[in-house]
Amino acid sequence: MRVAVLGAGVAGLVCAYRLSQERHVCDVYERWPGLGGQAATLDVGGGDLLERYYHHLFTSDRHIVSLYEELGMGDELEWHPSSMAFFVDGRQWAFNTPLDLLRFGPLSPPARLRMGLAVLALQKRARQVEPFESITAHEWIEKRMGRGPWRKIWGPLLRGKFGERADDISMAWLWSKLTLRRQLEGDEARHEQLGYPSHSWELLFDALRDAIVAAGGRVLIDRPAVAVRRDRDGAFHVTGGAPGSFRAGHDPRSFAPAPGPGERYDAVVATVPSDVFGALLDDDLADAIGPDYLARLRATEYHTALCLLLELDRRFSPFYWTNIADPELPFVGLVEHTNFISPERYGGRRFLYVANYLAPGDPLLALTPEELLAAYLPGLRKVQPDFSPDWIRARWLHREPAAQPIVTVGYHRRIPPLQTGVRGLVLANTTQIYPEDRGTNYSVRLGTQAARALLDERRTTRA
Ligand SMILES: Cc1cc2nc3c(=O)[nH]c(=O)nc-3n(C[C@H](O)[C@H](O)[C@H](O)COP(=O)(O)OP(=O)(O)OC[C@H]3O[C@@H](n4cnc5c(N)ncnc54)[C@H](O)[C@@H]3O)c2cc1C
Repeated sequence: MRVAVLGAGVAGLVCAYRLSQERHVCDVYERWPGLGGQAATLDVGGGDLLERYYHHLFTSDRHIVSLYEELGMGDELEWHPSSMAFFVDGRQWAFNTPLDLLRFGPLSPPARLRMGLAVLALQKRARQVEPFESITAHEWIEKRMGRGPWRKIWGPLLRGKFGERADDISMAWLWSKLTLRRQLEGDEARHEQLGYPSHSWELLFDALRDAIVAAGGRVLIDRPAVAVRRDRDGAFHVTGGAPGSFRAGHDPRSFAPAPGPGERYDAVVATVPSDVFGALLDDDLADAIGPDYLARLRATEYHTALCLLLELDRRFSPFYWTNIADPELPFVGLVEHTNFISPERYGGRRFLYVANYLAPGDPLLALTPEELLAAYLPGLRKVQPDFSPDWIRARWLHREPAAQPIVTVGYHRRIPPLQTGVRGLVLANTTQIYPEDRGTNYSVRLGTQAARALLDERRTTRA
């Protein structure tokens, strides 16, 4: 079979790799001039690669760990203790061990205890997601932990990530965050460990690309899909975009088609966001998919990640990860990568990500890096009073519109299936990762599931 895979993020590359292992030939179309999608890297100087958006792995991320091992790259993964804090009431509070919770000043001692017991009970006993699918995180937290933890911690955190939708977020989303990511036995019960590939995520993408190419396929970067249609004989037709299309944004309708007739394929697996997928289909294909599936695509809501990466000449704070639970600060997290991976890895340079998630159209998304830095400066100084723009040696700004699907109550009933209902057309994107929160580990699983969905469909329609 000749398959077009749309998107060279983790899901697209893994899907094409799995299909290649079954002797199918894949062309992977990618809009960005690089591999890896949301986990793509950039050269921060001297050939050192770093993810555009902060990335780490949890010990529960077994799909991606197995993939590294399968590719003979198991040694790439290193594990270090995480160091996490909450910024609330004007300071950073360490939040790594059960003892840190007992010392957490912003909550009264009974509230600390109640919150700790509620999380523990969830982690030890709540094995199934179903009881959490019909209640919001806000309702559950106030009921089980009390109002203080919602007001001081969870409310600001969910508002940071989901803005005005914070009150609507399903407890299923928080359940997965609290229960699935950490092992509760052994050393990790006391202190969370996080993983990182020694040479960034890029080596994984290169290995997958090499395997796809070795099987006769192509991985085409800076070549988005502009349109997909189906010919009379049931074959698909993919029109590619001209080089540099990524500068026109994310909507494929704004890309100029590359010269030439496009290419024919037996099947198409799209790993692009739901809105992009909808925009790629011609009217006949959209009709064939049908109104129910299209309604599910349209019902998808995303928040945009806005991520400012700063190279600093010194350490910003002692923590790797600081959750900002102060509603006055205009960003939601500070991720100091070089408090997790030694700055020696980068020739002594230090890197801080200033993280934000915003609703589409938020005015912060329109700012230049300089304007954004000016908007963030008072907040950065609130966390680190000595901070001065003189500390900054370089900066990069990235925006990812489909970064975070909004998981509200009843979300699971609206997820579009991988098989679209049109034979040979499969969709596999982060909206279908459930109940877990999206992450590279789950996109590895999704890529494998997408390949299987396509192959299963062929088998059943042949029989
Ligand atoms: C700020 C941030 C922090 C994160 N932190 C972590 C973390 O710590 N750990 C972790 O595991 N995960 C993390 N993630 C999530 C993780 O990166 C994603 O879940 C995962 O990479 C998604 O992979 P994907 O292939 O499913 O989707 P994407 O990576 O979104 O891949 C889709 C691909 O389709 C391409 N595309 C779009 N339109 C077209 C078109 N018309 N034609 C062709 N291609 C197109 C895109 O350019 C992209 O490459 C983070 C994400 C963000 C945004």
